[in-house]
Amino acid sequence: MKNQNGAIAPAGSACLDLVLDRLTKVKSAGAGKWIACCPAHNDKSPSLNVSEAADGKVLLHCWAGCNARDITAAIGLELADLFPGKREPRRGPSKAAVNHERMVYAVGSSLLQQGQLLNAEDQARFELAKQRLGVK
Ligand SMILES: [Zn+2]
Repeated sequence: MKNQNGAIAPAGSACLDLVLDRLTKVKSAGAGKWIACCPAHNDKSPSLNVSEAADGKVLLHCWAGCNARDITAAIGLELADLFPGKREPRRGPSKAAVNHERMVYAVGSSLLQQGQLLNAEDQARFELAKQRLGVK
């Protein structure tokens, strides 16, 4: 998913800069991706993948298995610093994602109620939305 104009939100770049500034041996690993030494374990060859989501969120993945909380703590940041707008860290999907699933579910169920059949792809997406929303 991308923003309409493909641009990255300024707040997102700020999050990313904050993280990349504090990591060592940062190397570009393609568009919107970096690799660096993981600060949370004794990392001799860079094994931390850093990438930026379309919404500006910074994604961290350590191949040695360190979690994002340990990694951010090791560089003096909090999980909230990975999110644009410095919101409190959330559990579970974002509100926008939940709203999207609700919409998929609402559209799907209204079509079904009208007696329309969903094609296989729409049916699968509808089932996924149900699963994500916890609807039986
Ligand atoms: Zn690590």
